[in-house]
Amino acid sequence: MQRIMVVVGTRPEAIKLCPLVQELKKRRKVEVLVCSTGQHRSMLDSALRAFDVHPDFDLDCMRTGQRHATLSARILRGTDEILRAEDPDLVLVQGDTTSALSASLAAYYAGIPIGHVEAGLRTHRRDEPYPEEMHRRAIALLAEYHFAPTVTAKRNLLSEGVREESIFITGNTVVDALRISLGKSDPRLDWELPKDKRILLFTAHRRESLGAPVRGMLRALRRVLAEHPDVVAVCPLHHNPEIRSAATSILYDAPRVRLIEPPEMLSFHRLMAQSYLIMTDSGGIQEEASAMGIPTVVMRRNTERCEGIRAGVLRLAGSGEEEIYRLTSSLLTPGSEEYAAMKRPSAVFGDGRASARIADALEKLSPFPKRSCV
Ligand code: UDP
Repeated sequence: MQRIMVVVGTRPEAIKLCPLVQELKKRRKVEVLVCSTGQHRSMLDSALRAFDVHPDFDLDCMRTGQRHATLSARILRGTDEILRAEDPDLVLVQGDTTSALSASLAAYYAGIPIGHVEAGLRTHRRDEPYPEEMHRRAIALLAEYHFAPTVTAKRNLLSEGVREESIFITGNTVVDALRISLGKSDPRLDWELPKDKRILLFTAHRRESLGAPVRGMLRALRRVLAEHPDVVAVCPLHHNPEIRSAATSILYDAPRVRLIEPPEMLSFHRLMAQSYLIMTDSGGIQEEASAMGIPTVVMRRNTERCEGIRAGVLRLAGSGEEEIYRLTSSLLTPGSEEYAAMKRPSAVFGDGRASARIADALEKLSPFPKRSCV
């Protein structure tokens, strides 16, 4: 039996890897070990709990105010010790976090093959998003198997010289997670939101949004609210203190704003489902909004989720106050044809069977050869 170690560190990784952990466990052909780096402590734990996934190892790497280099070093050392002790046959990482890159590097040094879930996303700008674009490009160099969510992602990998036989188009496991989450019927998760108002969901957390851009986003939101009296904004506040203080100082006396703690995944998906429009700089929310058909203003200069733009559910506004305000306000104008055209669920990011496809591919690929160079 082959042993696969799945490494998770942040909320989005847990959301996107737990459906795969569940799928692999069902098949019983592999032994699955879950290693949490604890990069995002509370948000990670609540996402794992939602799927009833309990890590076998916990590196507990989160420290307040920790620099990237220190976090990377801590995760590299921690995963190296576990990999040397457990000697799994394959390591699975997801996406573009410090946890994913550091665990990949540790596996590479130990000669253990790596499977990369959500491989091939690119903005083609090295520092946007920072440092995620560099992380995912580096993981592509380290990984043996690349699970690309879309054709575009596969093309990106091919253009970087990745061998075609090592790339599998699977869809994004976030759609699997969304199905599992929305399939749970629990009335306690539903939000009591005013029935006579439209809900505008606002989230911002990207590193490159910090400072002037996030203040511009918040001012745009304030102007939108002043103009549309039937809109209530719900703003889950990321734990970053800079975002919290900008939000409270810019929105403290704005009308109809709810500043809330970040809801755990099950509640958050319910909140999305009740939203009329979303403003976000998040990656995963762009994919979920596309799957659900919720028109979304992407508050970034570029996106690696161009499939959602092409499908028409996402609109890229840039990160400047004026463009964000103008686009959001026009979409909220009653009878907006532009809005009506965006409100269409799309399967561009997957059909909810990505985990099954990855598990199928892994079954066919096993046993995983170790690298002989070590
Ligand atoms: N999410 C959540 N609660 C929140 C905000 C987001 O559960 O308050 C979920 C969301 O559904 C998505 C994921 O977290 O699956 C996105 O994470 P985030 O925006 O932190 O990271 P990114 O996707 O930008 O890397």
